[in-house]
Amino acid sequence: MIPVTSKPMTLDTKFVYTFGDGIAEGKAEMKNLLGGKGANLAEMVNLDLPVPPGFTITTDVCNHYYVNKQRLPLDLERQVYEAMQHIERIMRARFGDSDNPLLISVRSGARSSMPGMMDTILNLGLNDETVEGLIFRTNNPRFVYDSYRRFVQMYGDVVLGLKPENKDDIDPFEEILDAMKTKKRVKSDVELTADDLKLLVQQFKDVIKKKTGKKFPEDPHEQLWGAIGAVLNSWMNERAIAYRKMYDIPESWGTAVNVQAMVFGNMGERSGTGVAFTRNPATGEKLLYGEFLMNAQGEDIVAGIRTPLPIIELQQYDRNAHRDLRRICDTLEHHFKDMMDIEFTIQEGKLYMLQCRAGKRTSASALRIAVDMVKEKILHPEEALMRIEPNQLDQILRPVFDEAEKKRAVEQGHLLTKGLNAGPGAATGKVYFNAVDAVEHAKRGDVILVRIETSPEDIRGMNAAKGIVTARGGMTSHAALVARQMGKVCVVGCSELEIDYKNRTIKIPKKKLVVKEGDEISIDGTTGEVIVGKIKTKPSEVVSVLVEKSLKPAQAPIYQRYAQIMKWADEFRLLRIRANADQPDQCEHAVAFGAEGIGLCRTEHMFFGGNRIDAVREMILSETKEERAKALAKILPYQRQDFVEIFKVMGDRPVTIRTLDPPLHEFLPKTEAEIELLSKQMKVPKERIHRRLHQLHEMNPMLGFRGCRLGILFPEITEMQMKAIFEAAAIVRKKGIRAVPEVMIPFVGHVRELTLQKEIANRIAEQVMKEKSVRLQYLVGTMIEVPRAAITANEIAKVAEFFSFGTNDLTQLTAGLSRDDAGQFLPYYIDNNVYERDPFQSIDKNGVGKLMGMAVREGRNANGTLKIGICGEHGGDPATVEFCHSLGLNYVSCSPFRIPIARLAAARAVIAEKNIISPPMQTSALKSNVLPQQANKLSNAKRAILLKNSSLRRSKAMY
Ligand code: PEP
Ligand code: MG
Repeated sequence: MIPVTSKPMTLDTKFVYTFGDGIAEGKAEMKNLLGGKGANLAEMVNLDLPVPPGFTITTDVCNHYYVNKQRLPLDLERQVYEAMQHIERIMRARFGDSDNPLLISVRSGARSSMPGMMDTILNLGLNDETVEGLIFRTNNPRFVYDSYRRFVQMYGDVVLGLKPENKDDIDPFEEILDAMKTKKRVKSDVELTADDLKLLVQQFKDVIKKKTGKKFPEDPHEQLWGAIGAVLNSWMNERAIAYRKMYDIPESWGTAVNVQAMVFGNMGERSGTGVAFTRNPATGEKLLYGEFLMNAQGEDIVAGIRTPLPIIELQQYDRNAHRDLRRICDTLEHHFKDMMDIEFTIQEGKLYMLQCRAGKRTSASALRIAVDMVKEKILHPEEALMRIEPNQLDQILRPVFDEAEKKRAVEQGHLLTKGLNAGPGAATGKVYFNAVDAVEHAKRGDVILVRIETSPEDIRGMNAAKGIVTARGGMTSHAALVARQMGKVCVVGCSELEIDYKNRTIKIPKKKLVVKEGDEISIDGTTGEVIVGKIKTKPSEVVSVLVEKSLKPAQAPIYQRYAQIMKWADEFRLLRIRANADQPDQCEHAVAFGAEGIGLCRTEHMFFGGNRIDAVREMILSETKEERAKALAKILPYQRQDFVEIFKVMGDRPVTIRTLDPPLHEFLPKTEAEIELLSKQMKVPKERIHRRLHQLHEMNPMLGFRGCRLGILFPEITEMQMKAIFEAAAIVRKKGIRAVPEVMIPFVGHVRELTLQKEIANRIAEQVMKEKSVRLQYLVGTMIEVPRAAITANEIAKVAEFFSFGTNDLTQLTAGLSRDDAGQFLPYYIDNNVYERDPFQSIDKNGVGKLMGMAVREGRNANGTLKIGICGEHGGDPATVEFCHSLGLNYVSCSPFRIPIARLAAARAVIAEKNIISPPMQTSALKSNVLPQQANKLSNAKRAILLKNSSLRRSKAMY
């Protein structure tokens, strides 16, 4: 038995909540305390559905267990035994009684479901004596010995730890079972006789004695506490830990333990068990979806030994049970207002519910269910929005792999490696190792650009490639952010890969794998998998309608539902959504996805088309003002034309253009050949270029001569950019387009830096307006990406007309984490809870977030009309969007393909803030205590106020 602590948590803490016979001490709202399974079992009892009686040991006990060196609270034992008596009364049987034994199941149940991650024990309470009593009661020795051998096996596996760690290793019990089936020449265990099963029980017990040195415990009480301990221990097994990391489930939630009277699906041909979804989880179609097996227990469905039958066929075996199941599913859907995932058992013709929870679903299915449930009047639109996890929308925009083909490839050993899933989607193509080759070969077919890491020079290659793989870099590395912005599939940080540019190979020495230039690979940016060989892909339906225009909306049902969800989201959200884009085609995509402006046009990204990089290098390497002026004169027409094109696409939507912010090292020539070429182009000796490179060399380029520092030391650069912006605005104005440039100064730490650059912007704007005889509307503002800028926001806001949080640099500089190098240790930090989430992906609210809050407050105090947004990569992260909403920002800006996600996240932030509806049980809203059915209580009057407030506030907002 597990030792108990000497001190109870408090004298009267309630650790155990019973349910059964129409009465439950718990309810659905108590998920935090009772776990999802426990709370919903109680709720089903409250709904008068047939649920075997039982009790739930609270998650507090789990937390106590871990805090107190795996000791249980003192009073737990008493409470458990009282609750056992409750089950015994209802079942009219006694635990451990040799005449009329009660059997129970012991199952885990965390606040949010963690399917298959933790442990379960069924048929507990059987021993050599109770077996006889059960045979006497049921007159069914085969069923009883079947239950007994299952129990001994499960107990051995789970409680006594005989289950092999590695799924490919042999389970000792399965080995014995297989030997028995071979000896008896049968395929399935259903064909084994009572005597066979009885023998198996003995053999299982022998193997336990042999492997553990201990006898199988015959005492049901010892079995019970052993099982409770095993379920609690399973909260910390490797699978559960990994799952929690993946889905952001805090360790502190703990698991509950559910003890429930057994009902038996293995009692004969009139019994069975099954799992079902109330709608199709892949497509969302309104049809009971699932499978069942007659004469079986739950684990048989997943074990794959017998093939389960589709649920529709249940009516051929048991019409009444099928009818009851449909009725119950309907009740559950209307009650929980969601698609539900259920487990049931039929014992001799009577249906019992063992579990219900919100069903996991694909994004396409989530859209369909949400839209259909509004049509069916089960949900209001605002509730429907809370049923869709914003990040899921990414799935419906990405090209897709044929899943079966991918699975086959992985099974055949073609998985090369797994990196960080930086740019979701599926891409397949031939491997090339540099931008020039990628561009060249992309003319003839699909290309995957493989780099150790990328730099702005690779942009053209990235643009030409279908996907990008890098060996180094994290989620905000250059490759990752550019790829996302371009909507490219991208896997970064594949540290296993040895990329050899010289021999043009990728090697993984450990696996003895070599991929050569021109070989085909497939990359899954949603999972981070890199696979050797070609796997077929196709563009998503939504992209086919919005971007490629190869499908008409009428031909695209997924698109229609997406459009409906976006329409509802736009009715609720207060945040404006902009895009980070710096090419006209990116702007077009952004508008197609619903961007209301450009929040960040990185002008340095515009210098890589054609021969522009040469002119930029010439500009950087110039030693005199005259030389620089010459180089700038070459760049001006390109820049102006780019802005003309962007303004044409964006119309009267605001366009935030950031002045040059190149970490210089990314622009300089690196190889001798590049230096030689440049010396020819610039008509200067190579030595001079070497000298200048030496002068410009920086130990720490990220803190070096970048951002506004460049324009302050070389004002002619800012002058050229301003000329390009305002002349472009004047040109399109003549074509009737009212462009609204918002000039943004990067890397400002001191108000004087902004003042100096703003003076140039205003001067050139005046000059152009005069020359071209037009009045232009424009703003000058700054990025807040240096902590000093946030700290002195009150001073800066007096000069700035807007702030845009550059949270990539703000995170880097606040936390002292290099954007490019943190990949060495950050994953370890996240795995070990130093940071709960990657601070480059989701705002670190306690650190960077506090600076942001302060800058918003102080900035707005100093300047009542200050417009504030965010343009760091975090702008497309739903949790950050919610945070930005709570800070009262005017907009978030993100890569074009994340715009739908931001639109939905912004709407959900408003709905959640009003505290009227909480997200459903299993989506992002895992952390919520409130249940969806509370949404039922939302009166029409309240909805009207909510809608009115939301549109009022929005009309007042400054965009
Ligand atoms: C930022 O720092 O958040 C930002 C948007 O600028 P960049 O990523 O270009 O440094
Ligand atoms: Mg920055």
